[in-house]
Amino acid sequence: MLILGGTGEARSLAAALVDTPGRSIVSSLAGRVSNPALPVGDVRIGGFGGVEGLVDFLRSEPIDAVVDATHSFAATISVHAVEAAAETGHPLLVLRRPGWIEQDGDTWLRVPDIATAATAVAEMPAGCVFVTTGRRDLAAFADDSRRTYLVRTVDPPIGPTPTRMILLLDRGPFTVEGEMALLGEHDVRALVTKDSGGEMTSAKLAAARSRAIPVVMVDRPPASAGPPTAATVPEAIAWLDSVAG
Ligand code: NAP
Repeated sequence: MLILGGTGEARSLAAALVDTPGRSIVSSLAGRVSNPALPVGDVRIGGFGGVEGLVDFLRSEPIDAVVDATHSFAATISVHAVEAAAETGHPLLVLRRPGWIEQDGDTWLRVPDIATAATAVAEMPAGCVFVTTGRRDLAAFADDSRRTYLVRTVDPPIGPTPTRMILLLDRGPFTVEGEMALLGEHDVRALVTKDSGGEMTSAKLAAARSRAIPVVMVDRPPASAGPPTAATVPEAIAWLDSVAG
């Protein structure tokens, strides 16, 4: 089985299957971060070379099924997986954690993309903005010299960044206490995040709720219609048992 990875769920799936008799897995990472958390078992790193490259890989390796366990914002590889699996006939499952849900006490503004998030921030009162949308998504905030941007990324930013930027290089999991302290230390007035879902990085939402800080929530790109979807690792294993039992 090929696991398209780069998420905690992909690593959990690999860990759950690595010692299962009769199963053999290979996890695939894009190679974007300098020190990735590696799944157990066999791992390949780097792009396949588009749909054609993925088709070649599926045909040349002993792969029976594919699980797309990539991040919900990794839209390109997910489309490639759908197209390649359709061409080769491989069963494909999308393993995707559910998005976050607004709770009592939250003040969320849902926006379709980063550019709209930046416009929404520009219309808010001045003050420090905490941005956790990733190192490639900072150009949209680069023209705003009125605000300080507290930016947290795993690796250093790529491309234009805000003029007044405080950069934190860190990766989750984060605690509510830690996030509360960070928001207080920098007098954060707004949070911009992608709707990644999951518990590893959700503490910032609880901290924002507790401090009555508005959240600009960037919605997920539309999912491909077609492949079945699982929300959890046990669901993904049940699917595998059904298609490649
Ligand atoms: P993307 O825009 O969907 O993909 C861009 C290209 O990167 C793909 O066309 C493919 O290259 C390669 N690629 C992506 N994921 C791959 C994988 N698992 N194995 C092999 N090649 C892969 O992806 P992205 O948003 O840059 O994300 C890259 C990786 O980081 C993903 O694996 C994702 O799970 C992880 N990640 C992304 C985010 C996010 O916010 N986007 C957050 C956390 C983790 P080829 O066309 O050459 O095959």
